[in-house]
Amino acid sequence: MKPLAELPQPDLLGVRGVLADIDDTLSTAGRITAAAYAAMERLRAAGLLVIPVTGRPAGWCDHIARMWPVDAVVGENGAFYMRYDHDKRQLITRGVAGEGDPAARRERLRRIGERILREVPGAAWASDQPYRIADIAIDFCEDVPRLPQAAIDRIVALMREAGLTAKVSSIHVNGWFGAYDKLGMTRTLLAEVFATDLDAERGKFVFIGDSPNDAPMFDFFPLSVGVANVRDYAGRIEHEPRYVTVAKSGAGFVELAELLIGREPRRTVDRIMAPDFEQIPEPPGGRVPARD
Ligand SMILES: [Mg+2]
Repeated sequence: MKPLAELPQPDLLGVRGVLADIDDTLSTAGRITAAAYAAMERLRAAGLLVIPVTGRPAGWCDHIARMWPVDAVVGENGAFYMRYDHDKRQLITRGVAGEGDPAARRERLRRIGERILREVPGAAWASDQPYRIADIAIDFCEDVPRLPQAAIDRIVALMREAGLTAKVSSIHVNGWFGAYDKLGMTRTLLAEVFATDLDAERGKFVFIGDSPNDAPMFDFFPLSVGVANVRDYAGRIEHEPRYVTVAKSGAGFVELAELLIGREPRRTVDRIMAPDFEQIPEPPGGRVPARD
């Protein structure tokens, strides 16, 4: 990981957008600071796309898409994206269609979660579990005393044994059916809404994150940035970011924003939506099949 200040100027000038993890990247000790929130607003005012990419639930993402200074949000580790069309006053959700009946899937997830709580003392349902549509989140640090690494590893093992994909964030272990991830849904969002082929334009987006569940994003983006607390996961993260900020958490995000806002000459991006984008009303339950 190189210091963020070493990010080459020509690369900086080409950046169209910032993709940001939320917990311990935008947030600091569980809260969004005024400086981090303002940095999102200032990035957008400077013409950049701002898109949080998070493991947080659908219920939170509804709020984020509507009320934060962002262009869209990817939630539940890539189960869906949401964006709010302010002209039409419509929330648009597009998500991965899981196999089988959604209610049966949720019931299976609930049983797997309950087994984990029985077998891993001190683990708890994440407090945001009721607002999730596609995954389970087991808390090892947010509202419970921090569990040892062996307990976190055990939660991951139990999820995988039960056939789930399992990812560790800075506070939760998330588990879901299927192989989707943050990167796949970010690709879908950019293609459907912003007429952008992410594979062709990966060098024009910065991803900033902090923890092992960000590894696919760190791996994919040449301009991947870790806030300084990413160093806490040394040796436990599959792909490290290329660059690292001096400051931790929200202050690290502000550091990146300052760098992008201060670049010269200023560039503005075309916010025009993809011409073939169709408005899809949010279905009951909030999920529609992925388009392919
Ligand atoms: Mg995080």
